[in-house]
Amino acid sequence: MEIEAITDLNPAPRLLLGPGPSMVAPRVLRAMATPLVGHLDPQFLEIMSEVQQLLRYVFQTQNELTIPVSGTGSAGMEAALCNFIEPGDRVLVAINGYFGTRIYDMAGRYGAVVDKLERPWGEVFDPEEIEAALKGKNYKLLALVHAETSTGALQPHIAEIAAIAHRHGALLLLDVVTSLGGLPVEIDAWDVDIAYSASQKCLSAPPGLAPLTVSPRARQVLARRKTPVANWYLDLTLLTQYWGQERTYHHTAPISMNYALREALRLVVEEGLEARFARHRQNAEALWQGLEALDLPLLVPPQHRLPTLTTPLIPAFADDAGVRRRLLDEFNIEIAGGFGPLKGKVWRIGLMGFSSRLENVVLLLGALQRLLS
Ligand SMILES: *Cc1c(COP(=O)(O)O)cnc(C)c1O
Repeated sequence: MEIEAITDLNPAPRLLLGPGPSMVAPRVLRAMATPLVGHLDPQFLEIMSEVQQLLRYVFQTQNELTIPVSGTGSAGMEAALCNFIEPGDRVLVAINGYFGTRIYDMAGRYGAVVDKLERPWGEVFDPEEIEAALKGKNYKLLALVHAETSTGALQPHIAEIAAIAHRHGALLLLDVVTSLGGLPVEIDAWDVDIAYSASQKCLSAPPGLAPLTVSPRARQVLARRKTPVANWYLDLTLLTQYWGQERTYHHTAPISMNYALREALRLVVEEGLEARFARHRQNAEALWQGLEALDLPLLVPPQHRLPTLTTPLIPAFADDAGVRRRLLDEFNIEIAGGFGPLKGKVWRIGLMGFSSRLENVVLLLGALQRLLS
């Protein structure tokens, strides 16, 4: 292509109803256009403290070490692992979907001896089987995905699982990427040690920051490390000097993304957590009913269904990619297909943050009805 042919940026306006990114509120986009200040400007240091305070609210925690990691959700995942793993440490990962597999892969790269506890995609774990797997194995860390975006299943019993992990001397690491800001995530009440999320799912900011929170128990494990953290960029012993009292330079904070996250979190506070969770649930229920009325049964049974990500089974007569392409081309609506064992079997429909609105549900159901009839 001739370089002169690269013209103004003007993508068609999409309705984002996939597994993320979700729609971004106009207020958040406006905040991103705020002129920059430096990453050590006293005004920015104040903004950092505000972002931390807002993050503690949404995580429902008093954890002092609560920060937005620079990078997407996977950077949060990586930070949650690399800081607590030393070569030879034993780690147990509960895998019932794609993101559990990614945790397993990452933990191994930091030298952990990793075991998996597996369930078919779409199912969830019982506390009893987790306890049986932990018993007598001296695991340092148990990792679990709260909301599996690849399957639409919500892992229950987190407080019980945390108590089991602690009884067996392990920390509990929880991926809350597709739950934080969309359904209850109670870090302190559940006694979760390490949790991370992503800015672009239920918090509805653009991708680029990964909220992370670390309990005092996990900080002790970090302080007792014998080897340096194998990842310099995500090393919390260095990052806490920037996000803590000292405010010493580590890397340049993504200023505009912090503006965006701050505004997105202010929207969460204005709405209130309870009202926000109720909205996500109500709109999800409207979607579930509508899909079932279209003869699209759902993969996950109601008691384990994630309100933020729904997985209808694709009917035998429908063309998976073809329907998604027409949704995009004719209705400007983005949803996603399945992957791994669910490829070609389910669609993935996200109702996260600013995307979770009844008018979006009605529009998608209407479009699907036309395309499937
Ligand atoms: C999206 C997602 C991630 C990874 O986040 P990226 O922002 O894509 O790096 C991790 N875990 C879960 C459950 C997710 O849905």
